[in-house]
Amino acid sequence: SSIFAAVEMAPRDPILGLNEAFNADTRSTKVNLGVGVYFTDEGKIPLLGAVKAAEKARLEAAPARGYQPIEGLAAYNNAVATLLFGKDSALISNGQTLTIEALGGTGALKVGADYLKRLLPNATVYISDPSWENHRALFESAGFPVSNYAYYDATTRGVNFEGMLADLRQMPAQSIVVLHACCHNPTGADISADQWKQVVAAIKERNLIAFLDMAYQGFADGIKEDAVALDLFAASGLQFLVSSSFSKSFSLYGERVGALTIVAASKDEAGRVLSQVKRVVRTNYSNPPTHGGAVVAAVLSSPELRQQWEEELAGMRVRIREMRSALVEKLNARGVKQDFSFVLKQRGMFSYTGLTAEQVERMKTEFGVYAVSTGRVCIAALNSKNIDYVADAIAAVLK
Ligand code: PMP
Repeated sequence: SSIFAAVEMAPRDPILGLNEAFNADTRSTKVNLGVGVYFTDEGKIPLLGAVKAAEKARLEAAPARGYQPIEGLAAYNNAVATLLFGKDSALISNGQTLTIEALGGTGALKVGADYLKRLLPNATVYISDPSWENHRALFESAGFPVSNYAYYDATTRGVNFEGMLADLRQMPAQSIVVLHACCHNPTGADISADQWKQVVAAIKERNLIAFLDMAYQGFADGIKEDAVALDLFAASGLQFLVSSSFSKSFSLYGERVGALTIVAASKDEAGRVLSQVKRVVRTNYSNPPTHGGAVVAAVLSSPELRQQWEEELAGMRVRIREMRSALVEKLNARGVKQDFSFVLKQRGMFSYTGLTAEQVERMKTEFGVYAVSTGRVCIAALNSKNIDYVADAIAAVLK
């Protein structure tokens, strides 16, 4: 008989499963608030002008497609480190950082996880409760036990910071703590700069290893503003890891552009760590693809394109904020009794609305408005044409 005869069907990815259901829905009024993608007011995934210009130049230059180095394009890796730590960073000038180009933020997390498993085979990984739905499975697949630390507080719709600190202070030394650097997914609830200081202090005190996940730099307040956690870790003297994703900030989802950055204690140490990270890459996919990283590097290193990108990124950020205020206004206008002002405080693409699984199900069946069963909606999928309909749907299921 077939060697696959007894293979069971794996459970569907909850969010990709939602997309399939959305695509199969024939109602013309349907709205997909499930995915983590930024759409324009026309409901399209944008191709940024800065990206288009860099791609045009690249097409005209028609570069040969030899293999990249295992760690990817040097110009890209340098640009990523500068985006994270700033152009005057002492860590960078000291040679304490190493960056490798990775296949999206997911690829960066996985290379980092595989490397950490070799370095600290007995460590436990802690992720926020709740967290991006792939964090747990990703670190488990790298061989780590994964636990939660307290994070979201459903009553305040903010962060249970006391609980978070208390959990950090109980972790065994050399545990790995995955932290959302900004724009927490799925809740949209971030901690303040002052709270980050306390987190850094707790991590230092307990001798923990921070793995910062930076998937939305520039989506909350700005490129530099959203890197406040990185500034504090950089100043702490700690060693830590950072995964970067340019899926959202460059709207390059399918090109899989990300990076893993590790901060070591010295240049010599960084060189040795890089050599080990390269072994992880070599045995997984050998080296990264050429296109996405080259485009991002071209945009970041050209003053004109960089300026254009920053303006386009600001445009996305502002549009999301406008949708947050419009949603709150429209819910109020419909006489919704619940206070939705928390939506204005949440940052990034998402909002944890507090809608129950049952209410989310009703929005889907009665209105064709799709959201994640946890009540997470993608604010970046709202637009001037669908927002009234979405507000109607939410108001109806809250009655
Ligand atoms: N981390 C977080 C917190 C995310 O939300 C995502 C997905 N949007 C990723 C990592 C993965 O990013 P990418 O799509 O670039 O792999």
